[in-house]
Amino acid sequence: MIAAGHPFAPPSHEQRWIDTATELAAEFAKTAAEYDESAELPLANLQALHASGLDVALLPAEYGGESLSYRSFGTIVRLLGAACPSTACIWVMHIGAATGLVTRSTPDVARFYADELIAGRRFANALSEPTGGNLFLMPLQHAAPVPGGYELTGAKRFASGCEIADHFLINALVDGQPAFFGLAADPSTMAYIPIWDTMGLRASRSQLIEFTGTLLRADRLCPPSTGPHPNHIGAGLAFLSLGIADAAVTALVAHARKRVIPTTGKPLAEMQWLRFEAADVHTRLEAAGMYAHHMCWLADQNSADFIPATMRAKQLANVIAVDAAQLAVRVGGASAGYLRSSPIERLFRDAQAGGLMAYSVEVCKDVIGAGLLAD
Ligand SMILES: Cc1cc2nc3c(=O)[nH]c(=O)nc-3n(C[C@H](O)[C@H](O)[C@H](O)COP(=O)(O)OP(=O)(O)OC[C@H]3O[C@@H](n4cnc5c(N)ncnc54)[C@H](O)[C@@H]3O)c2cc1C
Repeated sequence: MIAAGHPFAPPSHEQRWIDTATELAAEFAKTAAEYDESAELPLANLQALHASGLDVALLPAEYGGESLSYRSFGTIVRLLGAACPSTACIWVMHIGAATGLVTRSTPDVARFYADELIAGRRFANALSEPTGGNLFLMPLQHAAPVPGGYELTGAKRFASGCEIADHFLINALVDGQPAFFGLAADPSTMAYIPIWDTMGLRASRSQLIEFTGTLLRADRLCPPSTGPHPNHIGAGLAFLSLGIADAAVTALVAHARKRVIPTTGKPLAEMQWLRFEAADVHTRLEAAGMYAHHMCWLADQNSADFIPATMRAKQLANVIAVDAAQLAVRVGGASAGYLRSSPIERLFRDAQAGGLMAYSVEVCKDVIGAGLLAD
């Protein structure tokens, strides 16, 4: 974790929220394996986060929140990601959709969504499309004009926590242009298709949603964006992976200290190969963490540099999560890294998701590389 007082660290007056998240995370860690096994939504965890006041603290002050900094938000997601990655994933999407609707909507609609979040309603993102894949901000599905708004028939894929969502942040083409809407869950025109039998992040239940003539209300259309702004999904996803990496390093260190190799009579931790590899993972994790905190600092300055920084931060964090979990499997061996009863095995599966989620590691690299090499 970044040292207190560092400019990239959470502001000291927000420390109580970090303490709150630390306490909640300790509880969430106890049930993470059960939720993974059952692939049930960790509703109790999400309700505990809301009851703690954290959801509301993230709202802008003018809407009843505390405008909690991105530096604190990232730190909190990292703590949750280490404890229960599925909870952290759904929470990032919930906060991202809610604050996105509050900050992108007209004042009256923003007030409505802020009040809904304060009241404990749940939010999710329905952005990815089956054909669009990673390019989730460039919808391919058209919403046709009808009285009162626009009608959408189509599908959105991998909407984390959608089955318990009251409201969605959704996008579609309107007059050929991408547009965002707030959408209330509508059981008469929306169906959740249970595709989510996955390798990892199983309790995030990121299902497919089918829309059949769903009304996207004109008065819930977000006005055109005035430019790139920080957002909690872009900021949060790097920290989800960093949390998984933290948990993998903790698990591998614990096992390496405990496991005595019979031929040497010494713990695995004293093997030079492991020291080299552990140092490599640790150093890259520190660097990825420092860069992610820098990205949040940029968000707190409302800097346009935030957007490219999210790509660098996400790529670094996604890759180190996979590498840390891979090393943990090797250190754990079959008995502590490969059996289904091992927490390392779950972390290895969970670690794969970050790099697949938009923007994937490859998309991030393509954008960064293209920018670097352009004339
Ligand atoms: C755990 C999880 C939770 C999610 N939660 C949500 C959610 O709440 N809401 C939501 O809207 N979406 C969500 N998603 C969807 C996610 O953000 C992506 O949009 C989606 O996974 C992309 O589709 P795909 O995985 O089929 O990959 P594809 O986009 O088909 O990618 C397949 C391969 O092609 C590569 N690729 C694709 N496009 C390019 C490109 N332009 N340049 C270079 N390489 C490229 C990718 O890197 C990958 O290697 C979630 C996904 C996961 C895994």
